[in-house]
Amino acid sequence: MNSKSNITVAGAGFAAITGVRELRKRLPAADITLVAPKPEFIYLPSLIWVPYGMRNGDDLRFDIRPLLKKLDVSYVQSAVTGISADGRTLQTGAGDVSNDALLIATGGRYIRKLPGIENVITICEGIEAAEKMGERLKAMNGGTIAMGFGGNPKEPSAMRGGPMFELLFGLETWLKQQGQRDRFRLVFFTPAPQPGKRLGEKAVVKLLEEMKRRGIETHLGHKLRSFENHTVTTEGGEIPADLILFMPGMTGPSWMQGTPLPVSNGGMIQADAFCQVTGMERVYVAGDAGSFPGPEWMPKQAHMADLQAKAAAQNMALNLAGKAAEKQFKVELLCIIDSLDKGMLVYRGERGGMALPAMKPLHWAKKYFEKTYLRHFRL
Ligand SMILES: Cc1cc2nc3c(=O)[nH]c(=O)nc-3n(C[C@H](O)[C@H](O)[C@H](O)COP(=O)(O)OP(=O)(O)OC[C@H]3O[C@@H](n4cnc5c(N)ncnc54)[C@H](O)[C@@H]3O)c2cc1C
Repeated sequence: MNSKSNITVAGAGFAAITGVRELRKRLPAADITLVAPKPEFIYLPSLIWVPYGMRNGDDLRFDIRPLLKKLDVSYVQSAVTGISADGRTLQTGAGDVSNDALLIATGGRYIRKLPGIENVITICEGIEAAEKMGERLKAMNGGTIAMGFGGNPKEPSAMRGGPMFELLFGLETWLKQQGQRDRFRLVFFTPAPQPGKRLGEKAVVKLLEEMKRRGIETHLGHKLRSFENHTVTTEGGEIPADLILFMPGMTGPSWMQGTPLPVSNGGMIQADAFCQVTGMERVYVAGDAGSFPGPEWMPKQAHMADLQAKAAAQNMALNLAGKAAEKQFKVELLCIIDSLDKGMLVYRGERGGMALPAMKPLHWAKKYFEKTYLRHFRL
């Protein structure tokens, strides 16, 4: 099967692109097909710079077809809608796509269940949401901006705290740069009493100190009830706000509902430590779409998506050669929490963690990393 295996990769984000690159390296002769609704990769980590004009949509959106051509990977433009019980057929809007091995990398979905959620901007939803935040900011002369994030109680890793801290500190820096800081009240809210706990105890202390230093008010530890046009309502009271920026918790992709895929408690695709989808042969998942065994602080990050996709591709190659999966992915949390002019480094690994205070070189490092990561798309 190995010499001319037929492999399908679903998605065009971090996990999918890393997956096809690793698969091509390990299986030079395989037929590889990538299925995604649009032939584009979006570099989500730099969305935090869009509202302030430091990046625009075209800086973050990349046509993947030149890279796929270089890797000799076929492209099917369509969304996956289902999967056969044995995983050997993927149902898509463009018809069935069969495979000898499959990597699912279609990302997660935000839980938009809270009443009034349409009154918030969720920048993580993409370029348009980030642009909308920029437009709203530019139209404001003052007022209160409430910013917060929620989680998925059944899937501790399925939250995006890091980008919200970046938005919060970045916004405060930007208002100062515009000479408008004194006209705005900034309030940070989250149901968690210790925001950013998964980043480590040291990081929580540093983040809260940073909020205090920047004059950002906090409303912590109260379950969220609803959003209205100008109010965030929690069990601990109301926050009046002229603009609400909120990042809900995450769950699995909507297309998996009603399919034979195993579902984790939090609604994601259940996988083992080798990224194999439980109970399905030669079906793998990587990135935000999956639920993986590991420490409770394991993040949903591009870095993890890449590590999982590499492990999945290596295991897939072993399976296609008639061998059992043996590569486990490394669990690592690594992020630079940027504030437009400085960055704070947070690292957590199996042997411990560290948090470096905000400094200019870490902002430059984040920009350098972006440039290096995107070089594969600039063909
Ligand atoms: C604002 C922001 C800042 C972030 N900052 C960082 C950071 O600094 N560091 C870090 O490591 N991580 C960061 N992250 C997290 C990181 O971007 C995600 O964890 C990462 O994108 C997950 O990769 P993925 O491939 O699983 O999913 P995605 O990147 O979301 O890709 C999913 C892909 O699947 C495709 N797809 C969706 N539905 C279907 C379907 N039905 N059929 C086929 N294809 C489908 C989508 O079009 C997309 O191409 C940030 C995220 C955001 C939003």
